[in-house]
Amino acid sequence: MLARTAPGSAYGADELVLVEDLAVRIGIAIDRARLHFEVEERASAARVLTYVADAVLLVDRMGVVRLWNPAAERITGIGAGDLVGRPVTEGIRGWREAADSVPVTSSPDPGHAEVMIPIETDQGERWISISGVQFFGGTVYAFRDVTEVRHLEELKADFIATASHELRTPLAAVYGAAQTLLRHDFALDEAGRDRFISLIAEESERLGRIVNEILLANQLEAGRVDLGSEPFDPVELVERVVEAARVHAPAGISLKRRTPEDVPFVSADRDKVRQVLVNLIENAIKYSPDGGRIEVGLESGQGSGEETVVFFVKDQGLGIPDEEQARIFEKFYRLDPQMTRGVGGTGLGLYICSELVNRMGGHIWVESIEGQGSTFLLELPAEPTSAARPSPILARPSEGDPADAQRQ
Ligand code: ADP
Repeated sequence: MLARTAPGSAYGADELVLVEDLAVRIGIAIDRARLHFEVEERASAARVLTYVADAVLLVDRMGVVRLWNPAAERITGIGAGDLVGRPVTEGIRGWREAADSVPVTSSPDPGHAEVMIPIETDQGERWISISGVQFFGGTVYAFRDVTEVRHLEELKADFIATASHELRTPLAAVYGAAQTLLRHDFALDEAGRDRFISLIAEESERLGRIVNEILLANQLEAGRVDLGSEPFDPVELVERVVEAARVHAPAGISLKRRTPEDVPFVSADRDKVRQVLVNLIENAIKYSPDGGRIEVGLESGQGSGEETVVFFVKDQGLGIPDEEQARIFEKFYRLDPQMTRGVGGTGLGLYICSELVNRMGGHIWVESIEGQGSTFLLELPAEPTSAARPSPILARPSEGDPADAQRQ
């Protein structure tokens, strides 16, 4: 709109030219501003797509890839340079077969269906959860890497199968023994009755242990486990744990203690350390189905400049292949979920051990050669003020003690 601030004659041709020129310039300025705004908007959209953790794939109406963000590159190992501008079916192996099962909607509603599909990458098979939204320019797909989630689900399924088996076996024994006692009470002599009652007690204890293991794993995950920290004598602990384990050890197993005298006190939760050692010894026994020697001992250590104490449990059992050694500390992970060697378990024991040890400021690891045995080691901080063992009364010989001799 053009207006005059003071009265005057009608506008002439010259003024019209000036106004037209002004209008054109204003038009160009507005266009530029709009363009600038759009470019800015696109640049921030591109920045978002660069930093977003979800993978984004844009396929135009001709089936050609127009956008492939860094998250998509990370998940699949396919670089944008190799894919953008090429037909999607050529660039992504297996896309043609997979694409049919991917749900594509016409609006990006929250909670729309996603599907899990496998894709082949240079790093092996990966599972992605993907969905698509169609728009006038093509289809935009968003996907996430769910390989680990899927893996955990598989482990959980295995866990449910093994845990039910683990629970069913002692339950059947308790039930059978109780039934026998009920039916044949009068026909059983005292020794017979005692045998069944002991069996009920032992198997109920086993049931209790499995249930406790499941509960503790849950509490650890929820961060609801309180750990104390008091200096204690690790030699005395190892002695007690080994003595207790000897009572239940099967005939083919010999338990040895290796405790030097000059080990400092440990600063940690004694009861939890005991629990970890008991678990490691139980495993050593369980995974030595052909019997053998198990050594439980201690060494002084040095971890990042501070004094530490290293507990170890060494067996001559089945051993663990190199590539599995880190995984056995994962929740539910078992080397042999099908129990081909007939050794059962929930796969929670070592997960619990490593969680407890980490929370006590220590760490746990395994050294093993498949077929030759394993050594589990756990390193904990030493009590800073504790000198070497204060009294010789506490120091007992680690070899040749009567109990050892008896079992050899
Ligand atoms: P589980 O209840 O199966 O024993 P763990 O968490 O204690 O669960 O152990 C996980 C897996 O690690 C076991 O299933 C077994 O395959 C392996 N493992 C643990 N300890 C030993 C050992 N001393 N020797 C060989 N394999 C072991």
